[in-house]
Order: sequence, then C-alpha cells, then structure tokens
Amino acid sequence: MIAVISDIHGNLEALEAVLVDARKEGATDVICLGDIVGYGADPNRCVELVRESSAAVVLGNHDAAALDPAEADEFNPLARDAILWTRRTLSPANLEMLRSLPMAHVRDEIRYVHASPEAPETWPYVLNVADAQFAFSAFSEAVCFIGHTHVPTWMVLEDGMVIDMIVAEQLEMRGEGRALINVGSVGQPRDGDWRASYVLFDREQRRVVARRVEYALEAATAKILAAGLPEELAHRLSFGR
Ligand code: ZN
Repeated sequence: MIAVISDIHGNLEALEAVLVDARKEGATDVICLGDIVGYGADPNRCVELVRESSAAVVLGNHDAAALDPAEADEFNPLARDAILWTRRTLSPANLEMLRSLPMAHVRDEIRYVHASPEAPETWPYVLNVADAQFAFSAFSEAVCFIGHTHVPTWMVLEDGMVIDMIVAEQLEMRGEGRALINVGSVGQPRDGDWRASYVLFDREQRRVVARRVEYALEAATAKILAAGLPEELAHRLSFGR
C-alpha cells in the first residue's frame, strides 16, 4: 500500500503525524507530490524528512520558487514573503535536494505530478470536470495522483465521461475506469477541515482511501509567528483555509 502525500508547506507537525498514521495503516511506500516548503516554519526538517521517508518525490511550484524567485512573480504577497524567507532559510544541501526533483514520476501504471498532468511545468489547477477532461487526455496511465489545490477531489473517467465523485472514506475503482485523485494538503488544507489530508492507495484492490489526521496545530502556529512569517499564515491553519 502506498501513502501519497502533497503540499506539506513546511508544516513539520502535520508531516510527522501523517507519516505515523501511514505506517500504522500499513503503508509500505510514501510518494510525495511536491510543495514541501513555503508558508510554514520548518522547511529544512520537512525536506530532510521527506527525503528520508519517500520512495519518490516530484517538484511543486513553491519548491521551484524557493530555487528561483522569478517563479514567485504570480504569487500573492503572503506567499511571496513566505517563499523569500524560505529561500533564505533552506540549507544549501536542502536547496540541492529540491533542485534534483523531477516534474513527474511514473511507476506501475500510476502517474504522480504536482499540478495538472496537462502541462505540469506551468502549474495548471484541476478545479472542475472540464479541467479534469483535459488532464485525462494528457496521461495514459490508469491512475494519476495530483496536489496543488489543497482540496481533496476524486475525478473518475468512465465510458469517456468524467464524474466528480464526493470524497468519502474510500473509492473502489471499477473495470476499465481511470482516476485523477487530488490527495489534498498535509500542511495547509483549504477545504475547511484543519486536519492533514493524504491518501492511501491499494494497487491490488484498486482502492483509494482518504485519510485526515490531527496534528499539533498550536506548535505549528506558534513557530510561524516566532519565525516572523506573516501572521495570517499561522491563523489560517486552524480554519483549514
Ligand atoms: Zn501547495
């Protein structure tokens, strides 16, 4: 069973809680869809822990912006402030780790990418059925895992039709059906639920399980304030926004 995690954003408390939960649930592999850094106060420890725990990692747009501030031109001011702080804070070795990350990872008929597989290097979001239709035509594997929006979503392609499934406890894939699974965010969920989001994938059973994990929210919040990062980045964590 594979644990697929994304959008950690320097939130060490959330990452640690998710890794403990994944191990307890029987995950044998962790794959990370990027945005390890940005917003949160622990970029170095998060990069190191992802490197130690993950079988594969792909690049996210905040990781790219930590390497090249020109990538942050489109960011809102809070995100830009945070990524410039992150860039100053990351060790040379951890910047090097981010620089080594690929745009996509494919293994066993499964694709892993941060943004839409339609054009990963320009970071498009998959927000609706129309976006998902484009995305499905851009990959050939049975399943593609994505992140980037911080909102867990399950899009399924059956008989050429995209169905936006309600994210429930689990999704059993049927027959020839293909799936585009947004795993949500570990470190800064934006669906109104503050708990860390990730998924477990059982390849044999073709089953996706949505997980939400409580973590030491107050510690993560206090560290953001102590680091001098924008206060809003601390407060939004408790609202899941
Ligand atoms: Zn993100």
